[in-house]
Amino acid sequence: MSDDETVEEYLFKIVIIGDSAVGKSNLLSRFARNEFNAHSKATIGVEFQTQSVEIDGKEVKAQIWDTAGQERFRAVTSAYYRGAFGALLVYDISRRATFDNVARWLDELNLAKMLVGNKCDLENTREVSLDEGKSLAESEGLFFIETSALDSTNVWTAFEIVIREIYNNVSRKVL
Ligand code: GDP
Repeated sequence: MSDDETVEEYLFKIVIIGDSAVGKSNLLSRFARNEFNAHSKATIGVEFQTQSVEIDGKEVKAQIWDTAGQERFRAVTSAYYRGAFGALLVYDISRRATFDNVARWLDELNLAKMLVGNKCDLENTREVSLDEGKSLAESEGLFFIETSALDSTNVWTAFEIVIREIYNNVSRKVL
């Protein structure tokens, strides 16, 4: 087998965290299946979904875990985080309390890569400005993006940035 034919496979675990009802499940279903569910309820038991992204001509697979409602009981277990390479930490731009809780999630986790302000379609009921999101991310050293799982704004980009960052980190270590 020549070098060109060498099959390289990448599979990274990513977790999605944040308060209840910020849109974690819908971001994942939009990214993995291009679906949105207006009446989604926490599904206990659904663990992860996979999606591939092409980065520098290579297929990089992400195995993305959803809390499946564990956060409702403040019971996100260490097993959930085990082996994760990165995280999307999501708040809801139309509910300030979910933004105020970002610090609590950061304490719990030292691998957060991306802060996500979801539901940016809800401009009329916005409680957290774009600039507030940006400055929090800057002070915590996180990437930042606003998304809407409802109308698809930036959903793919949010996941792609995290996956690309992980891929770059891993390739740097290997080389
Ligand atoms: P989770 O508990 O964080 O997983 O949140 P869900 O994905 O279950 O979403 C909670 C509620 O917010 C559901 O009623 C969704 O339909 C709604 N939702 C999720 N994402 C968006 C979004 O981008 N825009 C709007 N307007 N609603 C959303």
